[in-house]
Amino acid sequence: MFIIDPHCHMVSRTTADYEAMAISGVVAISEPAFWAGYDRTPAGFIDYYRQLTETEPKRAAQFGIQHYCWICLNPKEAEDLGKAKEVLAEMPKFLSCPTVLGVGEIGLNKNTPNEAKVFQQHVQLAIDTFKGERGRGGKHHLILIHTPHLEDKLKGTKMIIEMLKDFGGAIDPGRVLIDHVEEHTIKLVKEAGCWAGMTIYPISKCTPQRAVDLMELYGSDQLCVNAAADWGVSDPLQTHRTLLEAKRRGHSLQTLLQIFYNNPATFFSQSPRFKLRKLSIQET
Ligand SMILES: [Zn+2]
Repeated sequence: MFIIDPHCHMVSRTTADYEAMAISGVVAISEPAFWAGYDRTPAGFIDYYRQLTETEPKRAAQFGIQHYCWICLNPKEAEDLGKAKEVLAEMPKFLSCPTVLGVGEIGLNKNTPNEAKVFQQHVQLAIDTFKGERGRGGKHHLILIHTPHLEDKLKGTKMIIEMLKDFGGAIDPGRVLIDHVEEHTIKLVKEAGCWAGMTIYPISKCTPQRAVDLMELYGSDQLCVNAAADWGVSDPLQTHRTLLEAKRRGHSLQTLLQIFYNNPATFFSQSPRFKLRKLSIQET
């Protein structure tokens, strides 16, 4: 079956990973900007954005995979407000690149006041730099949001939803995907009208079994699954393991197609830059 992985950090992965994903049915990937494992200088961010917008689409294309990305400064680097200001000023030109879907993954890490401030600045940037997209409506760029780890997750998710609400009618929750949801945060995200992403990791976040439990409890609408594979302990085929678990439990091909392909396609297609359309069962 064809799969879209909505959250993978391919700059950290090998061509063997691209090949394994392609062989396993992945036809498109979206890569949010994230923390490199060390704090970058402003010049380092510019190089990174070029890697995301120029190099990775070419690497992915070698394996028949479409590569899209997101631009931002990660919450882990938001404590330095001066640096954040400098990097935010460079973002508009990258947000206009043909494979950039929007602003992300912004969010919170330790839920600090500076992280909150930089989060709000990114949301404002998504509004201010949006020039309208032919016939698609929308008032701002698509937004992809990272939620904090473990004990900070619930508080951070609540803070994020409140901050989005503070923008009033300027933010359309249907154009926002809040990622790394777990049992205690998925309901908040869905009730806010946002899309929810489940990240499947070998040792933290969700497991394939827990993700399928959540799918069964909360339904498959506005829900996506990703491997978020990066430079840490992670695996780009965790998305597929989740699909297998859902299949093992007897979920229909229609449901699998919705969660692993049509949901990300529907969310991303709100940007005309995303070139794949939804598929019917007959086409898979
Ligand atoms: Zn990520």
